[in-house]
Amino acid sequence: MDQYKHSCPHCGHQIEYTQDYCGKSTPCPLCGKSVMFPAIPPGGFRKKLQIAKPAPPPKQKLQFKLGPMLSAIFTFVREFEHWRVVGFCLIPFIVIALGLVAARAAKRHQEANPTEVRPTQPQVEAGTWDKMEELTRADQQMPAYVQAVRTAKARVDLAVRTRDALHNTYRGQNLDTASFQLVMARYEAADKEVNNSQQSLNATRQLFNQAYTKYQGLGGKVDYQSQLPP
Ligand SMILES: [Zn+2]
Repeated sequence: MDQYKHSCPHCGHQIEYTQDYCGKSTPCPLCGKSVMFPAIPPGGFRKKLQIAKPAPPPKQKLQFKLGPMLSAIFTFVREFEHWRVVGFCLIPFIVIALGLVAARAAKRHQEANPTEVRPTQPQVEAGTWDKMEELTRADQQMPAYVQAVRTAKARVDLAVRTRDALHNTYRGQNLDTASFQLVMARYEAADKEVNNSQQSLNATRQLFNQAYTKYQGLGGKVDYQSQLPP
């Protein structure tokens, strides 16, 4: 507040006064007589001269006035008559929200306890599928090995029968030299065929044994050994 000076007309005491005292009277603090201050101080009001400057922009209007807004909201809430309708309209959203919350909770539970929920997958060893394929192939091939042994055995049986029949035919007979040599050649051929067929049978059995051992190693359960001729 600007201060002005006024001399007491009675004692000359310099009295300081403010704008509020303009045009009013007060007792002089020195002589006690009534002093009237001028309605307009000498030189005019200094403040009015300062107001001639451009006023700053009214920032306050842009500011968020929280108090009045809250008051308006409270008034609206208190006086709104359709809260019941609004409540009913909100029910579906509340149900959906609760469902989402439940689903999220379930998912978190699942993540926290993975072994509890996830289905246990069978532990498949590497190469198991290859082994199963091999076993299937072996199962398809084993009958061929069995058949090969049977065929070889049949050849041996035939060779033995032929040789025995030959011996039975000429046993105890008196043959001339030419016939004897001829029969001996047939004996020899028959014996050779017995030996050859026997070697062939042995080789075929060996092939069967190799295949059958591998088949059993793959987990094959069919008893192909029992299907072989004695
Ligand atoms: Zn005075």
